[in-house]
Amino acid sequence: MKFNDEHKALYDTVKNFALNEIKPYAAEWEKNEKFPAHELFKKMGDLDLLGITKNQENGGMGLDYSYGMVFAEALGYGLDSGVIISTGVQTDMATPALDRFGSKELKNEFLTPAISGEYVTSIAVSEHSGGSDVAALKTFAKSDADDYIIKGQKMWITNATQADYFCTLVNTSNDPPHKNKSLVIIPAKLPGVEIGEKIDKLGLRTSDTAPVYFDDVRIPKRYRIGEEGEGFSIQMQQFQEERIFLSVSSLIILDDCIKQTIDYCKERNAFQKKIIDNQVIQFRLAELKTEIEALRSLIYRACEEFVDGKDMTYLASMAKLKCGRLIREVSDSCLQYWGGMGFTWENPLSKIYRDGRLMSIGGGTDEIMLSIICKHIGIGKK
Ligand SMILES: Cc1cc2nc3c(=O)[nH]c(=O)nc-3n(C[C@H](O)[C@H](O)[C@H](O)COP(=O)(O)OP(=O)(O)OC[C@H]3O[C@@H](n4cnc5c(N)ncnc54)[C@H](O)[C@@H]3O)c2cc1C
Repeated sequence: MKFNDEHKALYDTVKNFALNEIKPYAAEWEKNEKFPAHELFKKMGDLDLLGITKNQENGGMGLDYSYGMVFAEALGYGLDSGVIISTGVQTDMATPALDRFGSKELKNEFLTPAISGEYVTSIAVSEHSGGSDVAALKTFAKSDADDYIIKGQKMWITNATQADYFCTLVNTSNDPPHKNKSLVIIPAKLPGVEIGEKIDKLGLRTSDTAPVYFDDVRIPKRYRIGEEGEGFSIQMQQFQEERIFLSVSSLIILDDCIKQTIDYCKERNAFQKKIIDNQVIQFRLAELKTEIEALRSLIYRACEEFVDGKDMTYLASMAKLKCGRLIREVSDSCLQYWGGMGFTWENPLSKIYRDGRLMSIGGGTDEIMLSIICKHIGIGKK
């Protein structure tokens, strides 16, 4: 991947934003168990950062995904995965399908305010009955003349308590599971929409996650993204950007894990020498740094495929799998070198250890990534 001056300028803008507008406030937001999404997204929207890859008619910049990837990587300087992933929901999880397949009218109503930062968005796919098994979801949208009446419940919805709308995968017929789904926009303020209690999570405590209930919620059919029955395949495409976002936005956090550990081990003494002067520790950190650079290269390769108009599912699944595994390995190994300090709540390493655990679960688990890779190498279930 070759970066030009525009990529570099974007990187610097996002890095400065993350260092000044996210990093200093993350500890306070973690205590509040929520970050102010409307306030932060408006600031990003004012800098044109929420629609980098989106079409220009709706306020986007119309750039290719290499710029979206640069945005996601530089956002990592915020060093708070909760805020970073919530931002990714807005840019790379709840809006790509709307941008690509939504009608002009739908985009004007819902994409434009998401790009300006006026609206906060959520992606609502998972259910109690179907997390990994997306096809098994039960929320149903019954046809009623020009409307759908929606009944069901979604689980684990990021940004739920602050969202203005949910990009929601629902069943619209009783056809076979991969042919009976549609992606629809459900505004949060409609009668029948209820947001459940915020979930008390192990990590990502700056981001709010909650169940969402739909009790006979009426929406016009024009709130559907794309054709009826094509929701499953549209969402599978949308998942690819989600997976790349999750992977690339972890890179700076991984780098920082190594850097902070080196700094600490240079200060700390044991047995009349600096901790860092033990070759076993030096080699381990060098090994982990090599793994991070290998992951970075894999992500850039996946992105290149996407920019070239190719299907990046194979490489994006590998990147997501590797990222989930690596963030656990890096945070665990580095935490060890902080001794007891690593085991305290306020420690930066323990935060990455807690926050990073999500990476093997959200956006498709490690096992789901492995089964996708298996299909691509001809050894899985078709
Ligand atoms: C903090 C957080 C935020 C989230 N945000 C969102 C969001 O904004 N929107 C949204 O729609 N969802 C969201 N999710 C949901 C997330 O995508 C799901 O948790 C994930 O897909 C796993 O689904 P599940 O929890 O139902 O686990 P299950 O599907 O119940 O899986 C349990 C375990 O079984 C394994 N397993 C399942 N099938 C197989 C198989 N065939 N072979 C081997 N192993 C298998 C899984 O890999 C996993 O380890 C979020 C989750 C969390 C924790």
